[in-house]
Amino acid sequence: MNTGAPETALTEAEVTAIRADFPILTTRVNGHPLVYLDSAATSQKPRMVLDAERDFTENRNSAVHRGAHTLAAEATEEFEAARATVARFVGVDADEIVWTSNATEGLNLVAYALSNATFAVDDRLRLSPGDEIVVTEQEHHANLVPWQQLALRTGATLRFIPVDDKGALRIDLLDEVITERARVVAFTHVSNVLGVINPVGEIVARAKQVGAITVLDACQSAPHLPLALRALDVDFAVFSGHKLLAPTGIGVLYGRSAVLNALPPFITGGSMITTVTMESAEFLPPPQRFEAGTQRVSQGIALAAALDYLGAIGMGRVAAHGRQVSHRLLDGLATIEGVRVLGAAGDRIGLASFDVAGIHAHDVGQFLDDRGIAVRVGHHCAQPLHRRLGLTATTRASGSIYTTDAEIDLFLQAVADARSFFGVAQ
Ligand code: PLP
Repeated sequence: MNTGAPETALTEAEVTAIRADFPILTTRVNGHPLVYLDSAATSQKPRMVLDAERDFTENRNSAVHRGAHTLAAEATEEFEAARATVARFVGVDADEIVWTSNATEGLNLVAYALSNATFAVDDRLRLSPGDEIVVTEQEHHANLVPWQQLALRTGATLRFIPVDDKGALRIDLLDEVITERARVVAFTHVSNVLGVINPVGEIVARAKQVGAITVLDACQSAPHLPLALRALDVDFAVFSGHKLLAPTGIGVLYGRSAVLNALPPFITGGSMITTVTMESAEFLPPPQRFEAGTQRVSQGIALAAALDYLGAIGMGRVAAHGRQVSHRLLDGLATIEGVRVLGAAGDRIGLASFDVAGIHAHDVGQFLDDRGIAVRVGHHCAQPLHRRLGLTATTRASGSIYTTDAEIDLFLQAVADARSFFGVAQ
């Protein structure tokens, strides 16, 4: 449990016990035991999470927030309890948690709501020409394209905090980029390419100085770090369940209650209204205002089970393990000739992306896959960052609580062997 004291990484025995909870980890791929190093794309799921989803579906399946029958009442209670679990996990109130299908939908929800002119909102939440939206050059496309589109719809200008040659955010330029015209500052907590942890406090402080709302992409931090959203002081945050030991199809949008209350809806329809006439509709308060249509009940319940699972380990210890994984990856890759690891030294968690001179990332990925080692290759939905660092594609290895030192060592050996195989070793 998280006591506030410095946390120790998971022991080998603890990781072994954790692995026993993940059925897929006994799978063999291409004749080899699976070495799953693609958890930043999507994590594997423990049996408790699979069981929670199945148990609900087999025994209590029903639509929530409607119907007077017993199953509907039980389903609603369980779904709302799951929301409360999510809220506790990130240190906020339950009515500040909006269910989405994933982080991408959460970001689009905010971006579209900010251009919904049909709803009376305070001026801060209505963008017009001359206003500025600020992102960073590190962003995943999910936290870039929706803001580009918002700029196109409203006439606002998109600006970005650039990165340096190593990919680190140019925090020295914050005052220059985030001006009095900024209305939205959207940025990633942990880069999905570099694994670096960005200085949220400094960015939020500058955004607050100019009265801009802040949107935190917590996709890669929620699985690895204790996430105290109130303490981080952001207005919005998003993350996806499937990267957090939970199923696909469920995500979370956090909105600070004062801002969420003022935000217009994005998707409209059933379950988000109070009164509807043939001409007009009145909307429910948050979070229901943002949850039109039949909800993903079993997935939400499974996400709560995943958070309980992580909570029982303690997020402080999960974070210590994630740092250990990235250090072993980074230290090991640094010893292999011809390998360029992206990102500067510093606080990094969970993953490492790299280029092997003379071998295309797709060939590296194929070579590793032949040994049962699953990694990600390509631009990882971060083309601008890759372009800035002078690359079109890299290989990314990313771990989770079930990642062992032995797996990382197998991966490192395979990368070294790939160089001989493709004839680029001296
Ligand atoms: N943001 C970051 C940093 C990510 O790594 C990802 C997924 O790779 C996303 C956003 C989008 O997540 P999803 O595809 O689950 O919506």
